[in-house]
Amino acid sequence: MHEVTRRGFLAGATSAAALPVLSAGAAAPPAGKEAAGIYRYRIGAFELTALYDGIWYRPITDKFIRNAPFTEVESALADAFMPADKLTTPFTTLIVNTGQKLVLIDTGTGGQIAPSAGVLRTNLLAAGIDPKAIDLIVISHFHPDHINGIKDKDNELVFPNAEVMVPAAEWKFWMDDANLNAAPADLKLTFRNQRRIFSDIAQSVTRFEPGAEVASGIVTVAAPGHTPGHTVFAIHSGDQSLLVLGDTAQHPAVFARHPDWQAAFDIDGDAAVTTRKKLFDRAAADRMLVTGYHFPFPACGHLIKTANGYEHVPVEWQPNL
Ligand SMILES: [Zn+2]
Repeated sequence: MHEVTRRGFLAGATSAAALPVLSAGAAAPPAGKEAAGIYRYRIGAFELTALYDGIWYRPITDKFIRNAPFTEVESALADAFMPADKLTTPFTTLIVNTGQKLVLIDTGTGGQIAPSAGVLRTNLLAAGIDPKAIDLIVISHFHPDHINGIKDKDNELVFPNAEVMVPAAEWKFWMDDANLNAAPADLKLTFRNQRRIFSDIAQSVTRFEPGAEVASGIVTVAAPGHTPGHTVFAIHSGDQSLLVLGDTAQHPAVFARHPDWQAAFDIDGDAAVTTRKKLFDRAAADRMLVTGYHFPFPACGHLIKTANGYEHVPVEWQPNL
């Protein structure tokens, strides 16, 4: 019975109008590359552009989650159709055109983390945005996937006209040599990378406190835990708003579904969980539009509260702004 149905289906699919299309398509060369990773949306009078920088399959070990057995982690990854030994880690940066300024929130990997990431510049140009036109770079925290895009591989500034604004608490923690010296070897690499990015531009880097309005309509909110100065951004225009979550949670299929999990890369795991639940509860209760740096492109959507955690509901593609 199954065979008959299947054969009938196949016969139907290849009959009449379908045949010429298939044979014409078969002769066409494959495109061989992805389309540009650009998604535009509006918050009030602001035009936002989500720009994809690519993806990293970050190797993990059985120590990846500090407070859950690795068998549970493996089954969560399997539930999300992810490889069992890697964390699927996409990167999406955000440009906000406030009407007065072009503001870039976090800068991507700068092509310095994985061969499958580093396409921000290509997507920026495809979006018709000249890197020289970026007025302001605002940084959520100092992990390399957020700051490396400030400079290219040859240490040249990618956005030469942009003012750089960073969380004061983040600067205080990471740029302190006593903290560098006390850090384990792998974290020392993170400290050294921050010096490569910031040391020679330190004079022109502005540090902000939580609650500061870094540009008209973009307000900073302390979100500590992942790193000491980790910051999220509330964007308001007209009667619309967006919460830019940064790394409050990494991939939502893992960390929204398991909000209690403390990842090895969280500096203060307890604080990271408290921050995550507080912000996610607020976003879910207020039905806020949110974007997360490591959410699947275009990284924008809503959060709903479930029995044990949260679920991310992506936005629909809108052909018209
Ligand atoms: Zn990150």
